[in-house]
Amino acid sequence: MNKNISSIRGMHDYFSEDLDIWHKLEKNFKQVLNNYSFEEIKLPILEKTEIFQKAIGNVTDIIEKEMYSFYDKKGNSLTLRPEGTVGCLRAIIQNNLLYKKKLKFWYLGPMFRYERPQKGRYRQFYQLGVEVLGLSEIDIDLEMILLTSRLWKMLGIHLNLTLEINSIGLKLDRIKYQKELVLFLKQYESFLDEESKRRLYSNPFRILDSKNLNIQRILKKAPSLNDFINNNSLNRFNDLCNIMNIHGIKYQFNPNLVRGLDYYTDTVFEWKSDEIGSKDTICAGGRYDSLSQELCGIKTPAIGFAIGIERLILLMKSLNICAIKKERINIYIIFLGKENKNHAISLSEEIRDTYPRLNIFINFSNCSLSKKIKHAVESSSRIAILIGSNEIKNKCYLIKELKTKKEFYLFKNELMLKIDSVFNKYLSKDN
Ligand code: ATP
Ligand code: MG
Repeated sequence: MNKNISSIRGMHDYFSEDLDIWHKLEKNFKQVLNNYSFEEIKLPILEKTEIFQKAIGNVTDIIEKEMYSFYDKKGNSLTLRPEGTVGCLRAIIQNNLLYKKKLKFWYLGPMFRYERPQKGRYRQFYQLGVEVLGLSEIDIDLEMILLTSRLWKMLGIHLNLTLEINSIGLKLDRIKYQKELVLFLKQYESFLDEESKRRLYSNPFRILDSKNLNIQRILKKAPSLNDFINNNSLNRFNDLCNIMNIHGIKYQFNPNLVRGLDYYTDTVFEWKSDEIGSKDTICAGGRYDSLSQELCGIKTPAIGFAIGIERLILLMKSLNICAIKKERINIYIIFLGKENKNHAISLSEEIRDTYPRLNIFINFSNCSLSKKIKHAVESSSRIAILIGSNEIKNKCYLIKELKTKKEFYLFKNELMLKIDSVFNKYLSKDN
């Protein structure tokens, strides 16, 4: 392997093995999102750096160390989006959509974060993001959770995911809490890992999220954010828990659940699974009522979540939930002798005209007939059509059914009927 020809660390290529699941996911996403009347929005991958700095908060992991930022030819600082919420809100503000009653958007695309690559953590990864603006009631928080639950059921992974929720109140509550938390943690500073030591002075709130078991043990005695949250937020959270009970949603209250980004308020939630490592988060979200005010001065309640596509695929694979294997080639066309090439091309075009859903492959190589047949068998195509000078003279084709190994000659009209009958199910299926 040539070492110079390789992708950037943490950035991956995806082939059909993953893409089959990927397409299944996209199909299910779209169905569920339509079901809840969401509309798609396509956003640029690059945004001005300052917009992320303004929105995400300067002491978060993302701003401190994860952004891919660079200067363009005019010296403007640009950033490859590390997440989608900020760009989505920027688009809504820029297009004067904030006044609209119904703002329910989704997007799917790559995000970029300079992280330490490991299983389920990459430098380019894909997210499905969902955002709702203009609605402050708990009903829409509930709808986010109902929507994600429905999606897990459709994908057959609902038994392997747990919902954790918490309320992180308002920024002011967190500032008060943070002071107490820091006082508490300073007593244990020498027991903290390097990352948490650093966070103690930059973003102590994030220590609550630590996966380090020693730190989790220390945190058991720490002051609880819950005791610092204002009454309105507490009541709101209790109402949300009650309405989730009414709708039979199972959840775990996790008082240490926080979000990595500064703009969150009140409800936060995560769907976690044990299957792909230590309680990994597949989907994370929450309310961000203060973000729009910070960006444009207009207060607009908002809630959203993002699903990490690669982690979802890892989970599905670990559960052996795969997409139905698609036949990569349905009909394999072999011509014998260069002089019959154009006949093969015309026939394949005619089949494509009549059956646009079929995958038709012509072997244009110069290799021997036996090699071509071997390749046809290996490609697991259903039928091969052999075209030689004799066949053309007799206006027929030699058909090989590759699974049953039957061989027979057919005239063109018979061939079309045969294709119809062999691929009947395939053609009528919504695939
Ligand atoms: P973590 O604590 O794992 O770093 P985060 O709080 O940074 O997560 P979010 O910004 O909330 O993650 O992103 C939402 C989802 O996107 C995550 O739950 C995860 O599924 C996925 N995700 C985030 N970062 C990555 C990454 N570097 N590689 C792959 N997936 C990711
Ligand atoms: Mg992160």
